[in-house]
Amino acid sequence: MRIAVISDIHGNLQALTKSLSIIRNLRVDKIYCLGDIVGYGANPNECVELVRQYADHTVLGNHDHAVLFPDYARYLPSDGKTVALWTAKILSSENREYLMNLKYRVETDICTLVHASPDKPEHWNYINSLEEAGNQFEHFDKTICFAGHTHIPFICRDDLQSFKFDKEGRYLINPGSIGQPRDGRSQLSFGFLDTDAREYKNFRFSYDIDGAAEAIRKSKLPKALGKRLYSGY
Ligand code: ZN
Repeated sequence: MRIAVISDIHGNLQALTKSLSIIRNLRVDKIYCLGDIVGYGANPNECVELVRQYADHTVLGNHDHAVLFPDYARYLPSDGKTVALWTAKILSSENREYLMNLKYRVETDICTLVHASPDKPEHWNYINSLEEAGNQFEHFDKTICFAGHTHIPFICRDDLQSFKFDKEGRYLINPGSIGQPRDGRSQLSFGFLDTDAREYKNFRFSYDIDGAAEAIRKSKLPKALGKRLYSGY
């Protein structure tokens, strides 16, 4: 099975549409989405609609959660809070309903999907160190756990070997961010898993950042949210 894994779209329609066009050419069987469809970017409704249409499995992210329950927006950075409250006002009832039905954790045949971390996905903890990553392996049973949230792609194996996954190993993978990369590179990032070839790849592509930044400017959202797309921080 060929699977694309996308995460942290954050209302960036330009990055999402570019990603979906590439994913279409990869002839995938499934698309998994790790949440934070909304927040930061100017096109939350369009992004939720595309995820509803194309993703086979989607989990809830902390920004999605804050849009549904604005009391929780105070736990977000101030720009994130501003946009969560704005998104809550403009989100369509169908899209709200869709987000409302998302779970914190989804199990597929060989994958666990969470937004933040498999130990307590509803606590939105960040996996920021190897130590924290290592501690997560006792909290999932499947071969691979996909987690987003930090916007920084990484692969961590339960023991050290070169990557091309095998039946014995288990993996914790972050596919990076579609809509707001934070590893110093501005290109959108997503993962590609071929379960037949037992291969995992991280893809990076440039996209129309000008369009995404302009949409943020036009929507009168904080200017810094457009600028940070260029720096990848
Ligand atoms: Zn995020």
